[in-house]
Amino acid sequence: KKITIAIDGFSSTGKSTVAKQLAKELHYVYVDTGAMYRAVTLYAMRHGLINKTSVKKVELINQLPNISISFVFDKALGFAAVYLNDENVEDEVRTLEVSQFVSKIAAISEVREKLVLQQQKMGSEKGVVMDGRDIGTVVFPDAELKLFMTASAEERAKRRYMELKQKEQEVSYDDVLKNVQERDHLDTTREDSPLVKAEDAIEIDNSSLTIDEQFQKILELSLE
Ligand code: C5P
Repeated sequence: KKITIAIDGFSSTGKSTVAKQLAKELHYVYVDTGAMYRAVTLYAMRHGLINKTSVKKVELINQLPNISISFVFDKALGFAAVYLNDENVEDEVRTLEVSQFVSKIAAISEVREKLVLQQQKMGSEKGVVMDGRDIGTVVFPDAELKLFMTASAEERAKRRYMELKQKEQEVSYDDVLKNVQERDHLDTTREDSPLVKAEDAIEIDNSSLTIDEQFQKILELSLE
């Protein structure tokens, strides 16, 4: 029987890694909701709606109807790439620059409202694995399986740093760690849908689990 799997947790806890593995194994649709917030952020950056310290919130809200986000399955990647107004921005939304602004954009209620509605539509049929910050609490409070992933900030920064290095991005470990900590803070303290563990979510601390151990553990839970 197909179910809805909601995976929430802090930045870089390996949510998307395990979500992709599950989707592949179970033949489910995978939706990376962080990529959607990142795509809106990229739009804002490109349209001069963000400067070093502030976001032109009213203008961004007015422009929301012009922002269309979609996913297109990419055979080479093995998962769906995110598109912003029909342009593939899968790589561009992963830069540290986007990461540095995304939590500010994600704190805007109108942005969340738009994206949450779209996510609920995308997941209206069972057989979905969705990862984010508010999936088990807001987007799909009735999901049959909810996971809450955690790991130490240092471990997460280490993983993220390696990932960006592999993509040949010029970053320092300290900046990555700072970004992880800042996003944790913004995501847990924002007024609208702050990051919290849903009461009925299963917490998984993967600081000392290998990717394969984690996958096996979660696969068992989704087949129960
Ligand atoms: O998952 P990822 O790290 O790509 O998400 C980027 C940012 O988008 C998060 O730090 C958070 O601010 C925001 N986000 C959110 N709600 C979601 C998914 C992501 O607020 N469901």
